Amino acid sequence: MKFCSTRNPETLYGLKEAINAGLAPDGGLFMPSYYPRAYNLVAQPESFEDLAFSDSLPYLSGELEDKEIKKLTRSAFNFQIPLKKIEDNIYVLELFHGPTLAFKDVGARFMAGLMPVLNKHNEETNILVATSGDTGGAVASAFHGVENIRVTVLYPEGKVSEFQKRQFTTLGDNINCLAVKGNFDDCQRLVKNAFNDKGLRRKIRLSSANSINIGRWLPQSFYYHWGLLQWQKAHQDTLPLIAVPSGNYGNLTAGMLAHNSGIKAGGFIAASNINNTVPEYLETGNYLPRKSVPTVANAMDVGDPSNFERMKYMGGSHEQLRSMLSAYTFSDKEIIEGITYVHDNTGYILDPHSATAYMALKNSGRHGFFIATAHPVKFMDVIPEKIRNYVKLPSHFSETGKKSQSDSMTTDYNDFRHYLSDL
Ligand SMILES: *Cc1c(COP(=O)(O)O)cnc(C)c1O
Repeated sequence: MKFCSTRNPETLYGLKEAINAGLAPDGGLFMPSYYPRAYNLVAQPESFEDLAFSDSLPYLSGELEDKEIKKLTRSAFNFQIPLKKIEDNIYVLELFHGPTLAFKDVGARFMAGLMPVLNKHNEETNILVATSGDTGGAVASAFHGVENIRVTVLYPEGKVSEFQKRQFTTLGDNINCLAVKGNFDDCQRLVKNAFNDKGLRRKIRLSSANSINIGRWLPQSFYYHWGLLQWQKAHQDTLPLIAVPSGNYGNLTAGMLAHNSGIKAGGFIAASNINNTVPEYLETGNYLPRKSVPTVANAMDVGDPSNFERMKYMGGSHEQLRSMLSAYTFSDKEIIEGITYVHDNTGYILDPHSATAYMALKNSGRHGFFIATAHPVKFMDVIPEKIRNYVKLPSHFSETGKKSQSDSMTTDYNDFRHYLSDL
């Protein structure tokens, strides 16, 4: 399989080039050059790992041997992705059973397994990640201990929850953490400056692992296929609507990729907090990017989602897109009320992100499943007090018990550059 850019389907790139570069040279996002029909499985896969293996083949074979792909999918997907019933006609696909309790583990672990196989004989690669919370944890955990790769996580000091901070600052070894005296935008700017610094890049090899990377994006399509197979066991031929908590729209567009590759969904719903650039586009046809506003579902606080380009590329015209995708927006107050409503009526506890998707599906009045993107324990401060006591840390979750460690960093690029040069 070769890959192309959302801005030009004619020029083709190899997998290694696409993963190492992150963004296509023309500024677009990488896409598969065709939609593989990986989904006509003869036998039902017994586990997500088995399904991920067969769904990976069209993308990876040619670059990797089958046994390498097997090894990759086995070590990346060592956790469950169950589909559970919450109410009649409303199911939840739980994607938070990975090591950092959020769906970003799926993409980050796949990419972390893939990069060293593609870059076998290269010198050390430095991966830079700016994080407002979840991404840093997933990327650091996935690359922890991976040979020839060093990760530097930049986070805004004092603006990340203690739980999230511990997920990347207690790993040590090849994971460095920088507490930046500024906000998330400052962290992103430092990373961007480093990527644009030709002098620095002659000295050290830089790479990114942000969510637009095709190495993180492709595997997210596999769990839609998996969710659908679980759904079919219970519902034979009714088609489910799938609701997705959305911020940068990597998750939802991966669902569209699965759809274009032949899985049978009844359509998708984008569930949004008040950062509703995409729901507004669907309604009006105008895409108006803006600064993000902080909400209780903060991993979805994005005002100009990078994956909008993929959405347009796959979905076609405004009218075509609207035929498969609808959207709902919820305020903080509605999100908190949703968590309480579901707990009172079913006993199930939602995190604030997953709550938007539950409500979107419920409001649609249709049957289907929604994606739960994080375990509620990660967002305790937002869960209403009377419910908090019922939230239990999952038994498989292990804290390292190690001390939290990070270096301090100013927002001055020269300081960051010195730091990187001395690595
Ligand atoms: C990242 C994240 C999202 C948003 O996913 P996108 O792919 O950016 O749309 C939703 N919920 C949680 C918990 C996340 O960490």
